[in-house]
Amino acid sequence: MKIIIVGAGIAALSAAARLSQNGHEVIIIESADGPGGKLREKWMDGYRFDLGPSLFTMPKWIDQIFENSQKNPRDYYKYIRLEKNCNYFYEDGVSFTAYADHNTYKQEIHQKLGVTLDKLDEYLAATKRMYDITAHIFLEKSLHKLGSYFSWKVVKSLFQLAAIRPFDVMNTMNQSYFSSKHIVQYFNRFATYNGSNPYSAPATLNLINHLEHGIGAYFPLGGMFQITNSIYQLCLEQGVKFNFNTKVDKIIIEKGKAVGVATINGSIKSDVVISNMDIYPTYKVLLKEQQYPKRILIQEKSSSALIFYWGIDIQFKELDLHNVLFSNNYFEEFRYIFDLKSIYQDPTIYINITSKYNPSDAPTGGENWFVMINVPNNSGQDWELLKKQARANIILKLQRILKVDLTPHIKVEEVLDPILIEEKTSSYRGALYGNASNNPLSAFFRHPNFSGKIKNLYFCGGSVHPGGGIPLAVMSGKIVADLIKKW
Ligand SMILES: Cc1cc2nc3c(=O)[nH]c(=O)nc-3n(C[C@H](O)[C@H](O)[C@H](O)COP(=O)(O)OP(=O)(O)OC[C@H]3O[C@@H](n4cnc5c(N)ncnc54)[C@H](O)[C@@H]3O)c2cc1C
Repeated sequence: MKIIIVGAGIAALSAAARLSQNGHEVIIIESADGPGGKLREKWMDGYRFDLGPSLFTMPKWIDQIFENSQKNPRDYYKYIRLEKNCNYFYEDGVSFTAYADHNTYKQEIHQKLGVTLDKLDEYLAATKRMYDITAHIFLEKSLHKLGSYFSWKVVKSLFQLAAIRPFDVMNTMNQSYFSSKHIVQYFNRFATYNGSNPYSAPATLNLINHLEHGIGAYFPLGGMFQITNSIYQLCLEQGVKFNFNTKVDKIIIEKGKAVGVATINGSIKSDVVISNMDIYPTYKVLLKEQQYPKRILIQEKSSSALIFYWGIDIQFKELDLHNVLFSNNYFEEFRYIFDLKSIYQDPTIYINITSKYNPSDAPTGGENWFVMINVPNNSGQDWELLKKQARANIILKLQRILKVDLTPHIKVEEVLDPILIEEKTSSYRGALYGNASNNPLSAFFRHPNFSGKIKNLYFCGGSVHPGGGIPLAVMSGKIVADLIKKW
């Protein structure tokens, strides 16, 4: 079949590699000048920056793409498992490192945060169990096809659903295990991995901690962009055609079937269309003459991010690849993001420094800082003012915690805000992960990977099932390829 994919994000690349391997003719039409969507890179005056994602988990799901094509993933990209997953700093001077090694991790938390080893074991076992019960139901198959539920493994999991605590809240579960404010804040942070609020998101999301700590955090040599680049190379080898700098304006529907797309250069016919564009504009722009699924599109959107790409001329021994400087009032920080749609004056700061592992990412003696804070998605706020205030508050917090005035050391600077995220990738309101997961039924309100009304129309990417983040977006590409295989 001839298959057109709208967009060249990571989900589209995952689908294209699989579909071309299955013998289909695949054409990707992308409005930007290269592949990757949010997963791209940029060089500025000798500093390299990964523009979007910085944390790499579940590499086996990327490897599977190559293995599916009988290729060795290591011939395309290499990665290492991190020994230190992340360094955490609190305003009261407490700090700890989340080590990958299980015993060192537990000892560190025990010694630095005063948590008993038994309680920690109990908690980690509970979050692992949540992952084991849910992953194969919620992440690896379409939630919206009856056939997905017909297996003994799924039936067994359905009987264990109480263990995933879908009607509890993340923070409530974490407080029920620990009295230390520091550890509760650390485990609450995993809500931000899909743009949600730990004070309302279901306790089930505590399983995200297992992805990072239990399964591991990784670093692709050469930077995150190597993930994009490697799958792109595989697609080219398998004959996938890429039309860059070309925006799709419409998905053409005839007699209830998707039959191609229209661009400024004319229309292209196909047997199947897959949209990797965010589901909201897919309906509102590409399918505007069609009925849209209101119930799904009106769901609360995830948070967005404000990122400062700073090339600096000094180095920090106390920092590693991933670093978090926690807000002193986490509850307020999330109240600002989700209720007030603004930015708290003491935001949690995430600093990613790939030059710690890739020295060539910064000039000698310097570092490439990706400084990110979680912010609301765009609803018309005064972003120029918010950015100015946030920058000043970040500089002050760095001064309090790292005891340095960074201002004179910033040699290169660029900023990404929710408006630019939407402009560059079409993500509605600049939300990073499509819908937020702030209620127990969120997983069921993500759009399916296919259209129930229009034949031969499919959807992949972070705004549809199973959700945002590289691993899930990649999985959505696999689910679509599997659905088309069965078709
Ligand atoms: C700042 C930031 C930090 C993040 N951090 C992490 C992280 O640490 N770890 C992690 O796993 N995930 C992270 N994420 C999320 C992750 O990047 C995304 O979930 C994932 O990359 C989404 O991929 P996608 O395939 O859905 O689409 P996208 O990357 O959004 O790509 C969609 C593509 O479609 C193209 N397109 C849209 N409309 C059209 C059209 N009409 N015509 C042609 N082309 C079109 C766009 O140009 C774009 O290239 C982060 C995201 C951001 C922005």
